Amino acid sequence: MDRFVSYFKTFSLWELWQGLSVTFRNFFRKPVTVYYPEEKTPQSSRFRGLHALRRYPNGEERCIACKLCEAVCPALAITIDSTVGEDGTRRTARYDIDLFKCIYCGFCEEACPVDAIVETRLHEYHMETPGENIMTKDKLLAVGDKYEAMISADKAADAKYR
Ligand code: SF4
Ligand code: SF4
Repeated sequence: MDRFVSYFKTFSLWELWQGLSVTFRNFFRKPVTVYYPEEKTPQSSRFRGLHALRRYPNGEERCIACKLCEAVCPALAITIDSTVGEDGTRRTARYDIDLFKCIYCGFCEEACPVDAIVETRLHEYHMETPGENIMTKDKLLAVGDKYEAMISADKAADAKYR
């Protein structure tokens, strides 16, 4: 009997029809393909993408060069040099993040006492020339200035879970 079943399956192409039945079942279902980048999937407000340095509404830099983010970074991606600003406060003379070292863990954002360094939901960026992987202070502040509204909205959306 087993041999008969085996012959039957062989000559009737049983496995082929089984496979095609899966194709037919899915043929009329709604497609689940996302046509990126025209279409995008929902993104969490906690998404950890490109970094930014923020300012207060009056334009003052938030960062006080405490170096907590540098100390907590497990990838040693952050390099900070501090100096004394014109108003006598401690400021960063240099604030670099090496995006090639960064593992996007978010520890720097968690450690920052003044919400200065953040990871935005921006993830569509690339580098074309050597050195572009270093996010300098100016570049980080520029990202912060440009996307402050989005960063503030994401922070507000996340606030109730903290
Ligand atoms: S996200 Fe993590 S690895 Fe990247 S700079 Fe911040 S602390 Fe370092
Ligand atoms: S970004 Fe925040 S944690 Fe890092 S040095 Fe500035 S104030 Fe300190």
